[in-house]
Amino acid sequence: MGMYDSVVHVCDCGHTVEWQSKDGPRELDTYPTGAVPFRVAEDVLGRTERCEGCDSVWTLERAYPPPINTVPLWARKGPS
Ligand SMILES: [Zn+2]
Repeated sequence: MGMYDSVVHVCDCGHTVEWQSKDGPRELDTYPTGAVPFRVAEDVLGRTERCEGCDSVWTLERAYPPPINTVPLWARKGPS
């Protein structure tokens, strides 16, 4: 059995829906959708899971700014 971290969301019906990630710290931790380690979040992003209680489908979407690969710099004259 592999190690994984889980993101959980309580469905409208009360059942807990779970997404499993193999990319985070992999400490078998469970995180609510409101506080997910960044690597785990990026791994489960966009994935859908079906609620076993009521058959609803849930998709995890980004609730934080997308990560940036480039940042701005100022070119300042000097020192002279
Ligand atoms: Zn449900």
